[in-house]
Amino acid sequence: MFLEIDQLTMQFGGLLAVNNVSISIKKGKIHGLIGPNGSGKTTIFNVLSGYYKPTGGKVSFEGRTISGLPAYQITAAGFARTFQNMRLFKTMTVLENLLVAMGHHAKVGLLQEILNPVAVHQEEKKFVEKAMELLDLLEVADFANELATSLPYGHQRRVEMARALATNPKVILLDEPAAGLNEVETEDLRKTLLKIRDLGVTIFLVEHDMKLVMEVCEEISVLDYGKKIAEGTGAAISKDPVVIEAYLGQEEDR
Ligand code: ADP
Ligand code: MG
Repeated sequence: MFLEIDQLTMQFGGLLAVNNVSISIKKGKIHGLIGPNGSGKTTIFNVLSGYYKPTGGKVSFEGRTISGLPAYQITAAGFARTFQNMRLFKTMTVLENLLVAMGHHAKVGLLQEILNPVAVHQEEKKFVEKAMELLDLLEVADFANELATSLPYGHQRRVEMARALATNPKVILLDEPAAGLNEVETEDLRKTLLKIRDLGVTIFLVEHDMKLVMEVCEEISVLDYGKKIAEGTGAAISKDPVVIEAYLGQEEDR
């Protein structure tokens, strides 16, 4: 039992955004979550990351219930995420975006800095080294000292992923990482996802690019109107009539 979403429900007024959904995510895998717009994917991520307290059901991680915990405790338990709409710190450099995520400023207090400047310097060096390693992994190390928002869009998305990894997560939630990327960038993203998985980080991936999802996910869960309607390998769900039906008319209806 690694990550268990158990009969999860999230109701907003009269709307059941997530309706009794159970998903079991295995350690070290890439698990896909797909479904038409408005089917509840981001809401599940918001519950997982502690942004919402579910109105029903629970989430357990490594045997412990985490749903309902405040976001910082969920981060501490080993969760990190990226957002459907990117949220980099606009006035910071690429490197600073990572250092902030690492809690660098929280750890190195002013008092410590006065009492033991050498130790602080050592500590700082370790953070910078770790951050640079991640930027290197995501192939954006060359931009470390540029303003994050001055980078091309595809690079900013990589920085956002590096920042999520900077907290040393066990699970990373990626909300439509391929959105807005061109074909070449999407292919790079595919390789990056595999690299992240090979670090031992479990990936829960919301994505509209079916080709990408099919290529990288060991297992895929399909949502429609807040309910799980199918689950299995890419090969299995792409043939599932229920899934095909849910996607037909997606453009006209929603
Ligand atoms: P998806 O990510 O699959 O496109 P969402 O999880 O964003 O879907 O949304 C699922 C449904 O829940 C949508 O109908 C959306 O409008 C609604 N919803 C999401 N967040 C809220 C909220 N905070 N308050 C009210 N309704 C919400
Ligand atoms: Mg969404």
